[in-house]
Amino acid sequence: MALIVQKYGGTSVGSAERIQAVADRIIRWKEKGNDVVVVVSAMSGETNRLIDLIKAVNPRGSAREQDVILSTGEQVTIGLLAMALESKNCPAKSYTGSQVKVLTDNSFSKARIMDIEDSAMRQDLDDGKVIIVAGFQGADENGNITTLGRGGSDTTAVALAVALKADECQIYTDVDGVYTTDPRVVPNARHIPKLSLEEMLEMASQGSKVLQIRAVEFAHKYNMPIRVLSSFDEDEQCKSTLVTREEDIMEKVLVRGVAFNRDEAQLTVTGVPDEPGIAFKILGPISDANIEVDMIVQNMGSDNTTDFTFTVHRNEYEKAKEILCVFADEMGARTCGGDNKIAKVSIVGVGMRSHAGVARDMFEILANEGINIRMISTSEIKVSVVVDEKYLELAVRSLHEGFGLENEAKSVA
Ligand code: ADP
Ligand code: ASP
Ligand code: MG
Repeated sequence: MALIVQKYGGTSVGSAERIQAVADRIIRWKEKGNDVVVVVSAMSGETNRLIDLIKAVNPRGSAREQDVILSTGEQVTIGLLAMALESKNCPAKSYTGSQVKVLTDNSFSKARIMDIEDSAMRQDLDDGKVIIVAGFQGADENGNITTLGRGGSDTTAVALAVALKADECQIYTDVDGVYTTDPRVVPNARHIPKLSLEEMLEMASQGSKVLQIRAVEFAHKYNMPIRVLSSFDEDEQCKSTLVTREEDIMEKVLVRGVAFNRDEAQLTVTGVPDEPGIAFKILGPISDANIEVDMIVQNMGSDNTTDFTFTVHRNEYEKAKEILCVFADEMGARTCGGDNKIAKVSIVGVGMRSHAGVARDMFEILANEGINIRMISTSEIKVSVVVDEKYLELAVRSLHEGFGLENEAKSVA
């Protein structure tokens, strides 16, 4: 008998019919002799609806209250799914994050899971019940409800799989696996049957929203394989992607996929004193405000001054700009400003470790399309560039084609 954790995303539970279909699928897994723990998201569109409500009532409302509201979407789905299972004579019990309890830190809206209390769930599993847990939420040590960031139900699922020592963590979504890039942007993107956790980590951190980055971090840290599959595929032997350790993957491709992110914004301060500690002085207040910084570029100084550019999540653009420009004023900087119409495009592949020249090819492909690169950052297995948002789709398509991803990927010996 295996213990399986399954997660169903928003579109997979987007209507009463979809919830019934999910219940039928769970019963099929249970009838094969498995114990099943299910994590669900809010019904599709619901979290966005709640965000709009928050904005309409008090856009500057406290983070604690925002999480109280945002967590309700998932609570509806767990109840509905438990009732659908009950109606099909399958014993089931729903849990909110705080009922489990999924203990998190107190960073409202982007809380991190610290611990999961598994004894009650184990007892219910022993009693033959299907457990249904609300994704995307937990509670801090004072009992305040917290949420885990957009797409956070993936992280709940992987964390539960780790805590319960599950045999597999299955992420059911609206695509039948991970593709070389988002198939909505490049319709001839290629399906990837097996992918390393390292590559998925880079793809997710560079914007491939098919899995939330923290879910992949968790899986990587605790070596929990993830299987991505479609809840719309009726065939149990359907296509899927297994995301697992690099050693388990024989084929090392040069470029595995193209990821992109249009949620970023760029901030620039020019003419600041070129002296030790300047980066700390600029980024310290940003980090103190709990704003995550992604790419950072500091120019070579001249005339004892230098320029500094960095990117943040677009939602935090105004807040970051406010903080930065107060500082810039105090320092007598020449200018302070930014641009929130930028996007980041990245190529990812473990084969890059042993092969130089991939970045060069990337820049050539973009140059041939007349796309200007604003910032560049590289790691062992990825190259990212920031471009004007209006060129994003062109950049993704030309890189996908330029690296031959729609056909067989280039293998590296
Ligand atoms: P869910 O609601 O099930 O969590 P998401 O919308 O978060 O689903 O994630 C699935 C979506 O991820 C797909 O519909 C697809 O548009 C997008 N996506 C982005 N990059 C990729 C990729 N490389 N492979 C597959 N899907 C991707
Ligand atoms: N409902 C949340 C969101 O829309 C969490 C999730 O779906 O994973 O981001
Ligand atoms: Mg998701």
